[in-house]
Amino acid sequence: MTVTATTPALNYEQLLAAIVAPTGGIEIRDPATGAVVGSAPFHSVADLQAAVTAARTAQPAWGALSHAQRGEALVHAADAVDANAEALAELLSREQGKPLNGPNARFEVGACATWLRTTAAFPIEPEVLVEDDGGRAELHYRPLGVVGAIGPWNWPMMISVWQLAPALRMGNTVVLKPSEYTPLSVLALAQVINSAMPADVLHVVSGGRDVGEALSSHPDIDKVMFTGSTATGKAIIRSSADTVKRLTLELGGNDAGIVLPDVDPQAIAEDLFWGAFINTGQTCAALKRLYVHDDVYGEVCAALVQVAENMPMGVGLDEQNVLGPLQNKAQYDIVSNLVRAAKDSGATVLIGGEPDAHQQGFFYPTTLIADIDNSNPLVAEEQFGPALPIVRYTEIEEAIEMANALDVGLGASVWSSDPDAARQVAARLEAGTVWINKHGAVDPRVPFGGAKQSGYGLEFGVEGLKQLGAPQIISF
Ligand code: NAD
Repeated sequence: MTVTATTPALNYEQLLAAIVAPTGGIEIRDPATGAVVGSAPFHSVADLQAAVTAARTAQPAWGALSHAQRGEALVHAADAVDANAEALAELLSREQGKPLNGPNARFEVGACATWLRTTAAFPIEPEVLVEDDGGRAELHYRPLGVVGAIGPWNWPMMISVWQLAPALRMGNTVVLKPSEYTPLSVLALAQVINSAMPADVLHVVSGGRDVGEALSSHPDIDKVMFTGSTATGKAIIRSSADTVKRLTLELGGNDAGIVLPDVDPQAIAEDLFWGAFINTGQTCAALKRLYVHDDVYGEVCAALVQVAENMPMGVGLDEQNVLGPLQNKAQYDIVSNLVRAAKDSGATVLIGGEPDAHQQGFFYPTTLIADIDNSNPLVAEEQFGPALPIVRYTEIEEAIEMANALDVGLGASVWSSDPDAARQVAARLEAGTVWINKHGAVDPRVPFGGAKQSGYGLEFGVEGLKQLGAPQIISF
C-alpha cells in the first residue's frame, strides 16, 4: 500500500459535481434562502454493507504501515484541504447555513487542516510499565479494525475530522455516516481527503438513521465514534451491546458559565458573547446558561446587549455576516418554543425574541433573556441556538449548585479577574472541561470529553489517539 500526495484544487462547481447523486438522491436546501444546494446520494443499508466490506479488506495493509507513513498521509490530506479550502467553505456555508466569516465556515475548514496535521504529529510509543529482575511489561496499541463514525449537522466537517484523523492515524479504516441534514459537506471533505489516501481506507455512507442503526450494530465495525444528541447516544449504546463495541460518545450539553462579582463587564462581554453564540449557538460546548452575580448583573447584561447589537446575522455567503440561520426547521422550532415559554413566564427580553415572520430562511434573532428562573425550560434544556438565558445569583454556593444540577456536563466556565478564585470554583464544577475567562475553546493537543450524560471517552491529544487503539500488553 502506498501513500501518494496529490492536492488538486477544485472550484465550487467542480467539487459539488464530484459528490452529488448522478440520479435521484435527496435535495439539500440552503437554510438561509431555501435554494437547492444539490442532491445528496441517499445510501441504503446494502451500501453500508459494501462500504464496511471494502474498509475491512483495506485495513490490514493500512494498519501495516508505520505511524510515520500514516502521519504523512494525514499531512497530505491537510494540504489537500488547504488547497480546496475556499470551495469547501462555500459548500459548508450553503448547506449548513453558517457564514463564511467569523468563527464559522472558513474557520471550520481551517480547523480540519489543523486537526489533521496535529493528529499526524503526536508521538505514540510503547510504554514500559515494569522493568525489573522479575521481567518486563510493555503497553502497545494495535489497530482496532474498522471504525464507524456517526456525526451531527452543526460542525459537520470539523467533527468528521475529529473522528477520522485519530482513527486513521492508529491504523484503522473508517466508515463515516454524516447527518442527513449535512451530507454534502462530509462527502466533499472526504472527496478531498481521499485524494491523499489509499483506496478504501475512508468511506462515506450518506444515509438516514436506519444506516446509523445498522452501523452501530454491525458485526464488522469494531468501534463507533459518535457525536450527537444524548438520546441517540443511548440508542447506540443499546444497539452496539451485542457486539461489545468500543464507543466514544460526545453527546449533548447545557454548559453553565459563572460570572464572579469582580469582573470588568466591558472587558469580558465579547468573549462571553462568542462563548454562547459561536455558530449561532449551534455548538455542543457553547455557553447555554449564564449565572451572573447580582453586583454586576445589570452591567454584564448591558455589555452583552451592546455586543449583540453589532453582530450582523444573515445569508452565509454575504461577507459581512457573522451569525446565520438555524440549520433546520426542527431546531428553529425548539429555539422558538423555548423563548416563547421564557417570555410567557415573565422573563425580560433584553434583545431579540421576536422572529420576523416575513423573513426567508430559518433565522432566529440573537436573543438575550434576563430575570429568568433557573427552572425555566430555556435554562434547563439545551436550546442549541441563538438564545441565552441570564440568571441572577447572590451566593457562589447557589451558583455552583445551579450549574451542577443537570444530568449533562460537557463544558463550563468561570469568569473572574482573580485566577485563584476562578480555579477554586472551576474545581467544583461537574464538567469535562472548565474554561476560565473563555468558553468552548478546543485545541487538538488538549483532550476533550463529557462528564455525566454528556458522554464518555476522550478526543484529541495522545489520550484521544489511544482511544482508537486496542491496548495490548506484551509481558516477558
Ligand atoms: P442526532 O443525535 O439527532 O443525530 C446525530 C447522528 O446520529 C445523525 O447522523 C443521525 O442520522 C444519527 N442517528 C440518529 N438516530 C440514530 C440511531 N438510532 N443509531 C445510530 N445513529 C443514529 O444529533 P444532531 O441533532 O445531529 O446534533 C445535535 C446534538 O449533538 C446536540 O445535542 C449537541 O449538543 C450534540 N453535539 C455534541 C458534541 C460533542 O462533542 N459532545 C458535538 C456536536 C454536537
